[in-house]
Amino acid sequence: MDFYSTSGKYKTNLIGAISEGLAPDGCLYIPEFLPRFNPDDIEGTSVSEIANQILYPFFKDSELDLDLENICQESLNFPIHYTDLDDLRNISVLELFHGPTAAFKDVGARFLASTMDRCFEKKGILDPVTILVATSGDTGGAVAAAFHNKKHIRVMILFPKNQVSPRQKHQLTCWKNNVKSFEVDGSFDDCQFLVKSAFGDKELNKRHTLSAANSINIGRLLPQAAYHAAASIWHWRMKKVPANFIIPTGNLGNALGCIWAKYMGMPIGKIVLAVNSNQSIPDYLSTGNWLPRKSINTLASAMDVGNPSNMERLRFLMPDFNDLREAIQSFSISDKKIKEQIKKEFSENKIIICPHTATAFSTYDHFFNTKDSEDRFIIDATAHAAKFNNIVEPIIGKKIDIPKELKKLLERDTSYFPLSVNLKDLVNYIDDWD
Ligand SMILES: *Cc1c(COP(=O)(O)O)cnc(C)c1O
Repeated sequence: MDFYSTSGKYKTNLIGAISEGLAPDGCLYIPEFLPRFNPDDIEGTSVSEIANQILYPFFKDSELDLDLENICQESLNFPIHYTDLDDLRNISVLELFHGPTAAFKDVGARFLASTMDRCFEKKGILDPVTILVATSGDTGGAVAAAFHNKKHIRVMILFPKNQVSPRQKHQLTCWKNNVKSFEVDGSFDDCQFLVKSAFGDKELNKRHTLSAANSINIGRLLPQAAYHAAASIWHWRMKKVPANFIIPTGNLGNALGCIWAKYMGMPIGKIVLAVNSNQSIPDYLSTGNWLPRKSINTLASAMDVGNPSNMERLRFLMPDFNDLREAIQSFSISDKKIKEQIKKEFSENKIIICPHTATAFSTYDHFFNTKDSEDRFIIDATAHAAKFNNIVEPIIGKKIDIPKELKKLLERDTSYFPLSVNLKDLVNYIDDWD
């Protein structure tokens, strides 16, 4: 399959789209078409088996087509739990947070790492490729964990001083070997500025191959389509009706995976995007005007996005606004409602949810939990509450057990380097890696 930039100006194959991340004109890559399946023809039950079947058309005719099965087995090797929740409400929960850093971003980051390492192997690149990541917290940890000890890649993580939680900082700085972390004396925007400046530095790019692993890389979207496909197939086999999804949404990568899965013929009904007080998406759906804006800080910080990058891909898929409005719904959940929902789930249902997942539960309770509704919803649970213990513990008045994977990371030693907001400093570190 070929991949095009949304501008239509650039065409490449799977290896190009994944190793470049962004097209040379700054636009995102999209697949030439979305393959269609009959869900009854899909075999097997594990996410890895289902991913291998529905992602094959994207890998076909590339040098990686024989590698897909191994990529799926190696990267999608942690549990994704699907549970029917309670009899009172028509909901099931898809727990996507049982990977190494306890957030759903592990799925995309691990699939991308396995695929990218093989891309560079096939391209015959001799020196390791340097991946630069600016992070506000969650992405950096998932990328570091996923790329740690990959042969052809080294990773530099840039995080803002005093702006990540203690547990997030630990996850960002406990790696060694091919992953180095930098505490930038500035904000997340300064981290992004440094990364962008490095990509724009012609001399630096002659000496080193640089790449990006942020959420706009198509290698992260593909597995996100795969687990939504898997969950809808599990639901279909058990309940014989399409699944409706509610998805905590920020940069729109996770939700786009679900929309793609539906276009690929999977048994999916409604797709509902739960956002925090950053409400560009629900405002767009109600007014028809796309007005991206600066992000504001909320309790669901990993969703603090005012200008979701994947809107570009969504609008390309559905250029007619009326189609888009029929395909998705979106609701904004305030910090006050997030807190209320965390408290309610714990006191009434004995479940502990993170602030991001709370936006989806709140959306269900306020907009879909009606007596006459037969619709069953699957809620994407995007992070483990222990990752955001600083927010959740005071609300529920109880310490949260730390999952085993997260505990392992929190026991590791940490180290990092200070970095000023000065490209020269960063360039020195890139040049003198060892
Ligand atoms: C990144 C993140 C989200 C938002 O996902 P997008 O793909 O950016 O929409 C939601 N919840 C958690 C815990 C996250 O880390």
